[in-house]
Amino acid sequence: MRFRFAALGLSLSLAAIPASAASDAAQRLAHDAIIVDTHIDAPSMLLSHWDDLGVATPGKEFDYPRARQGGLDVAFMSIYTSPDEDAAGTAWQKANTQIDAVEAMVGRHPDKFAILRSPADLERLRKGGRVLLTPGMENGAPIGDDLSKLAALQARGVRYITLAHSANNRIADSSYARDKKWGGLSPFGEQVVAEMNRLGIMVDVSHISDDAVRDVLRVTDVPVIASHSGMRHFTQGFERNISDELALAVAKEGGVVQLVFGTGFVNPQAASDTQAYFIAEAAFDQENAKLAAAGKPVKSKDAFDKEWELAHPSPETHIDAVLDQIDYAVKLIGVDHVGIGSDFDGVSGHLPVELRSVADYPNLVEGLQKRGHSDADIRKILGGNLLRVWTQVEKAAKR
Ligand SMILES: [Zn+2]
Repeated sequence: MRFRFAALGLSLSLAAIPASAASDAAQRLAHDAIIVDTHIDAPSMLLSHWDDLGVATPGKEFDYPRARQGGLDVAFMSIYTSPDEDAAGTAWQKANTQIDAVEAMVGRHPDKFAILRSPADLERLRKGGRVLLTPGMENGAPIGDDLSKLAALQARGVRYITLAHSANNRIADSSYARDKKWGGLSPFGEQVVAEMNRLGIMVDVSHISDDAVRDVLRVTDVPVIASHSGMRHFTQGFERNISDELALAVAKEGGVVQLVFGTGFVNPQAASDTQAYFIAEAAFDQENAKLAAAGKPVKSKDAFDKEWELAHPSPETHIDAVLDQIDYAVKLIGVDHVGIGSDFDGVSGHLPVELRSVADYPNLVEGLQKRGHSDADIRKILGGNLLRVWTQVEKAAKR
């Protein structure tokens, strides 16, 4: 999701990392299966608080030692830009700098990390215990109104783009926006989807409005993903999570819904606070714009965020909330259409107690085993389904 609070260093991540208490069977499966997590916000965190993620980095939720401990194979690195950066005209610069940061991780530790540009390279590159990094862009803002920038991003390794973030942009309406601008995708957004199909970049429908998801499904020739969404069934009225109707539509076209771990999506109280935050933030921005127009001093956004965080403490949430989401989604849309996109490093540490970092996938595996999912089905959820969709999108692009 990427809350602004994360940039303030208010992360609640535990300093001491307990070893996973998961069973041997769960540990074995987590390490043997290909785990693909489609949403980890490490790159924007690196820009605000740099660390060497090749070594233990307790203040963050993704680093090499814990990725290995958790059995993570492919980490989609979120290349995130905000609506503010879009408005300021800095989104292209910010996005490319984050991709540079991902490349620097590989440059510093070629024995530990590699960029994964195609599922076909997965087995070769992960030999020797490498964790594979694939840029996934959160917010289409960096392309501005220039379709040719999509090819440039594809060349840099970007393999999915979330069309919008927390505000309407040139491409699509946002689920968080109270006033929608386009009623779905913009005419330019339709061209963006077609060009992404052509280039083999997966279209990500997380964050966009319901009407925009419908438009994407009408325009796209290939399956799409929701890179980090919860099931709205558990958080009624929260458009950021995917509705049953749209989850079914994504699955019908062969796509996959990657379920998110963040408390703000899986806990109903927290989801309602998340929704309220983005509405309050928009009102705050409007107020500041008025002050600025009147030549008066503007109010501090950091102070606004700190105050909000204090007034809306994150409710303690357990792994069952995520397992319930997975069970529900599997029953509704089928086990071939469900995956995981944690949002680690993007939610200021607001995560279920048993899913604090990339070391904790074995806890998820154990929970799924206890709930009666077969190991073969768990492999699909952990990464098999996402790799199927990615392969299909890549093949269609080559045609
Ligand atoms: Zn997000």
